Amino acid sequence: LLALLITIFTVLIAVTTLVATFAGRQSELALSLSGEISRRKCTEENLRRSEAYLAEAQRLSRTGSWVFNVATRGVVHSSEEHRRLFGFDPKEGMPVWDDWVRRIHPEDRERMMDTMEQSIRAGTDFELDYRTAHPDGTIKYIHAVGHPVLNASGDLVEFMGASIDMTDRKRAEAEARESERRYREAQAELAHVTRVTTLGELTASIAHEVNQPLAAVLANAEACLHWLDRESPDLDGARRSVEWIIKDGKRAGEVIQRVRGILKKSDTQKAPLDVNDVVNDAVALVQRELLRHHVSLRMELAPALPVVLADRVELQQVIINLLINGIQAMQTVTDRRRELTIRTHQNDQILITVKDCGVGISAENADRLFNAFFTTKSGGMGMGLSICRSIIETHGGRVWAEPNLPHGAVFHFTVPLHQEDAL
Ligand code: ADP
Repeated sequence: LLALLITIFTVLIAVTTLVATFAGRQSELALSLSGEISRRKCTEENLRRSEAYLAEAQRLSRTGSWVFNVATRGVVHSSEEHRRLFGFDPKEGMPVWDDWVRRIHPEDRERMMDTMEQSIRAGTDFELDYRTAHPDGTIKYIHAVGHPVLNASGDLVEFMGASIDMTDRKRAEAEARESERRYREAQAELAHVTRVTTLGELTASIAHEVNQPLAAVLANAEACLHWLDRESPDLDGARRSVEWIIKDGKRAGEVIQRVRGILKKSDTQKAPLDVNDVVNDAVALVQRELLRHHVSLRMELAPALPVVLADRVELQQVIINLLINGIQAMQTVTDRRRELTIRTHQNDQILITVKDCGVGISAENADRLFNAFFTTKSGGMGMGLSICRSIIETHGGRVWAEPNLPHGAVFHFTVPLHQEDAL
């Protein structure tokens, strides 16, 4: 009996121990399980938060992510932002391939498909610009980049990529281009107005330029009659007179041509030019102003200048403007010779300099001379130098002013050499 009792007792103890151990394990397990659950909850929470941040970042940067399966030719991942780029509601299910294709602008569809097929064949990265056309008429400009994803054995399985909405940037660029175009138009218009005003100021000069050859034509015509009226007409003398008439007629015609050229001028037309010719043309138009204001002009033109690629009328306008400004700056000078110098010079560009000994440029005005509407003249428009600067800059040159010691100002501008000559 004792043995039986001991056995029962031992078995009881063993069972109790087993149960206790099992219960201990259970509670240990439960404890670690609950730890695991809360860790997972935390991870899930982090994941959710990071997904929300990612979606927000995609929305802010207008960038959608996508994955394209090569075997099934289908989109297997498309972020909310990516679906928005195509005008799909992100809450609805994943569109089928044909729906994606239909949303690509018809004009870009073929090119896009070709690029994708090429990249699939080559297994290389691609970049692509295309438009999407939404059913409500919205057009989006998209820049897409794609990267191939390979499996363990090196086969191409997917393309993953990002698509960026460029619509706002494209619109801003188009608006900037349009406003630049309008600005240029307004400036050309203004340049035309100043040209006409300058020509108005130069009427006396121009009339003189035309009158001179006309007077010579008359004198030579009379001489011609005289040769012919002789008892034995001097045909050689008559011929010489007629030749002079033709020469003077041509000269008058050229002046008219120059004036008409300046008046009609609209778009910039660049052609290879000799700057010295342009200077001579401009000087011819301001002759009378020089005489009227008792200004002597020194011309120091470098011989055999290489040609520049420029618009003749525009360069002429710049030179006339600088010459007239120089003449006007010397208007009040009475204690010294009113001398204006125009010089052409070549280094790696062509340099044109106009120097006067007039009132000069005060330090406070030095920075403002080229600003639009800056003028110190009672009837001035303040557009001359600003237009000069814009003309010279569109020719790839630079314009600047310096004091001319002890009196006056020097204006310099450069024009790059015509490419073929520069080589
Ligand atoms: P405007 O002749 O109508 O005033 P510009 O743009 O040609 O317009 O010139 C702007 C200003 O620059 C002039 O009013 C004058 O104060 C100054 N300026 C231009 N050329 C000279 C010069 N050669 N000497 C001194 N000041 C000058």
